[in-house]
This record gives sequence, structure tokens and C-alpha cells, in this order.
Amino acid sequence: MQQFAMYINGASANGYKSLEVINPATGSAFAQVQCGNSDDVDSAVAAARAAFPAWAATPWAERKAAVQKLAGLLEANMTELMELVTLETGKPLGGLAQIGSGMELGGAIGWTQYTAELELPVEVVQDDDQALIEIHRKPLGVVGSITPWNWPLMIAIWHVIPALLTGNTVVIKPSPFTPTSTLRFVELAGSVLPAGVMNAVVGEGDVGAAMVDHPDINKIVFTGSTPTGKKIMQGAASNLKRITLELGGNDAGIIMPGTDIEKIADEIFAACFHNNGQTCAALKRLYVHASQYEQMGQLLAERAKAVVVGDGLDQTTQLGPIQNAAQLRIVEELADSARADGGRFLAGGQRIAGDGYFFAPTIVADLSDGSRLVDEEPFGPIVPLIKYDDIEDVLRRANANDRGLGGSVWGDDVAAAAALAMRLESGTAWVNTHGSIQPNAPFGGVKQSGVGVEFGAHGLAEYTSIQTLKIAR
Ligand code: NAD
Repeated sequence: MQQFAMYINGASANGYKSLEVINPATGSAFAQVQCGNSDDVDSAVAAARAAFPAWAATPWAERKAAVQKLAGLLEANMTELMELVTLETGKPLGGLAQIGSGMELGGAIGWTQYTAELELPVEVVQDDDQALIEIHRKPLGVVGSITPWNWPLMIAIWHVIPALLTGNTVVIKPSPFTPTSTLRFVELAGSVLPAGVMNAVVGEGDVGAAMVDHPDINKIVFTGSTPTGKKIMQGAASNLKRITLELGGNDAGIIMPGTDIEKIADEIFAACFHNNGQTCAALKRLYVHASQYEQMGQLLAERAKAVVVGDGLDQTTQLGPIQNAAQLRIVEELADSARADGGRFLAGGQRIAGDGYFFAPTIVADLSDGSRLVDEEPFGPIVPLIKYDDIEDVLRRANANDRGLGGSVWGDDVAAAAALAMRLESGTAWVNTHGSIQPNAPFGGVKQSGVGVEFGAHGLAEYTSIQTLKIAR
């Protein structure tokens, strides 16, 4: 069994107990991880606080060089990290539409490299005989990062790289379901970063809450569920921490009437089912015009029945298991409620026998808004297909949800599709694609899908505060 430790002040650290990390493809533990408590949070924050002045004073070019070295470490250790991601999440090495651990590592490397090139130059807003006024960006201090289990390493990178580049020090807490790839990365990073600049603690919600309450943490960047995000917003009030919250979504996709649906079926299927639907901005509610409803259902059902489900370490696997037993139960419960609501199952609908947390890719027709499967984020391989007649009505229904992460409109008339997409209440509106994120495009949620954005210069700025310098003349 592989062993993993926490990482505090430049050294491995043991906790007060160890946790088993389950491989969801087998239901058995593959690793043991040291688990901490609020004392370990105190130690990690103290180390990060002590390291902050020197790291903040390190010239930008040197921090950039350090971040570039982190990208190199990810690249050099890609095979090992990919395997850890697959073991802990269940996601395939390759996967449906190549959205698996390979992409997770490729994304982690690409985001790191791209972010390293970003800058936040001084802005001059006035320079005349009255005054010189400049806007400077300063690091916040200690950043606490709390991550979920669906894209553990990539999301860790999204949090820590902009924090480090801008001169903050970091304490990261991965999900206890998927801590191994993050712990290995933080350990590797220890060869590049001064002691205390990046620390990792392990634990459940109580350890996250201890970070949120901690008076010496200046910002929490959190990716996870909306209910936890609400608790974090409340807790962060204790010392008015800055927050970035990337929360749950229930993204709608609308296919406009007359669209060539055979052409888009593969992409729609992948937008719904990659990583088993366990992606914040997966397509989770598909609205199809009545004239194409049955045909679209058939196209998706064919794909759901043909997709290869299995152990992610097997190169031929396209979809792995659901990441954990509790999430599997949520998916089963939503399937049951869809059945009770009169849903017509075009594919799947039940667990796949065996020890792993496998669930057959499931498409449910004949449900409408008001059914739990439509209104709630399933975060699993089950997608409702919803019929509509009128474009204004479908837009209203797509927007009648308290989440607003992403949304998409699919159509051959691109201008009409874009005009409709821009009326979606979502942080990102996609046209003829869904869920495709990239490091230069800000990403975040509106409504109850989040606060703030990540990526690009807008995302980088969230790890800084403004200091206005005015020199009177
Ligand atoms: P979760 O909220 O259960 O847990 C996320 C993290 O928060 C874990 O590390 C957990 O230990 C920690 N935590 C739990 N309770 C806490 C508390 N009271 N205080 C502080 N930390 C606490 O989420 P999850 O189940 O791991 O992830 C799935 C959810 O994440 C889905 O809703 C998904 O849509 C969302 N998500 C959003 C994005 C995005 O970018 N918007 C990306 C990925 C996942």
C-alpha cells in the first residue's frame, strides 16, 4: 500500500491518524494518507505566514522562474501523477474524448505554463502637474486552498499557481477522497520552493473549516459544492477573508430547431458524460426541440450503450466508476426519482455489478422542469433529455435554476445561437461546444455557482489587493 504524508514547512509531516484512499474501480484501498487536525492547520499556517515576507519580496521574475520549474516537474513526473489521478478518482488514463488523467496532467502543465507568462503591471491613472497616481497589485498573504475530488490535481494547480506567482504563500487541503496526486505534487514542489511557501494538510470538512476560521489566512479559494461554499462564505467573515468560490453547476444545453444533430451527437455526448458527468461544467440538462427529440434521444442512447465502462487503468476504458460510494448513492436515488416521475430510460438506469462504484451511462427522456433529475446537479452519468416547443420558453426554463456556471446553445445559424447564448444566466456561454475551458478565458459562476473568477489576468488579480499610490505635486 502506498503511503503519503502531509507537507509542512518544507518537510513531510505525520497527522494524528491515517486515512485509507479507495480506488473506486475496485472499492479497495490503494493508499494510506496521514490525516491532520486543527493543530496541523495552525502549524501549516504559521509556516506559510513566516515564509510570506521573503516570498512576497522575491522579484516577480524569480517567482515566474519557480512556477516554470513547477511546470517542468509536472511534465517530468507525468506518468506517476497520471496513475495516481486514475487510482484515486477512477477516471481513465485516456477516456471519452480523451478527457481523462492524461488531459488532467496536460491541463495542469498547460495552465502552469500559461499563467507563468501573465503579469499585473502597474497602472498609471494620472500623471500631470497635480499628482502621479498609480495602482499597484500586492499579494494578500496566506492563501488557503480547498479542493474537490473530481479534478483534484488540475484544480489544485488552478488555485496554487496564481497564488504563488503573485507572491502569496499557500496551505492546500485536498479532498480526503483524492489527496494523493496533490500531496505528491506538493512534495515535488518542495525541491523548487523555499520552506513554508507551499504546505499541504489533509482532512475532512472540519480541517477545511479550521482553515476558513483561521485568523492568519487572508484568502480562501474553494472549489466544491454550493452548500459547502455557503459555509465558507459565512466562516470567511470572521476576519473578512477574500474568497473565490467555484461551486456546483446545473448547466443547460439548448439545441436549436433544425440543427444537424448527427454532426454534434458525439460532442454533446462527451459534454454530458466525460468523467462520468463529474465535472462542474458538464452539460447536465439537454433541451431538444420536439421536432428532433426522438432522433436525438436515439443518437445519445446508441452512444451510451456503446461506451466502454471499466477500470481507468485499462487503456481501452472510456468511462470509469463514480468516484465514491456516497456519490453513487446520489445517482441511484436520482434515477429512482426519475423513474417515479415517469421518466423513460433510453439507456442505463442501474449499477453495474461488481465491487467498484460503476453505474451504467443513463439517458432519461420525458422529464421536465420540476423533476429532481432536471432541477438538481446529479454529478454522475445520468442526463435528462427535455422536450421544448418554443425558443423563448426554453430560454426561460434554462434560466429558471439557482445555478449559473455554464450553458450552451447549439445551432447551424451561429449568429442566432450566439444571441440566445448571451441571454443565458451563466458565467460562461458556449456556442456549439460545452465545457471547454482554457487558461486565457476567465471562468466562474453567477447566481449560486460561485463568487469571482479564475484564469487569465482577471483570475490572477483575485490573488492580490490594490494599493493606490498618490504622489502630490
Ligand atoms: P464538497 O463541497 O463536498 O467538498 C469540497 C472540499 O471542501 C473538500 O476538500 C472537503 O473536504 C471540503 N469541505 C467540506 N466541508 C467543509 C467545510 N465546512 N469547510 C471547509 N471545507 C469543507 O464538494 P465535492 O463533493 O468534493 O465536489 C463536488 C462539487 O464541486 C460539485 O458540486 C461540483 O459541481 C463542484 N465543482 C465546481 C467546480 C467549479 O469550478 N465551479 C469545479 C469542480 C467541482
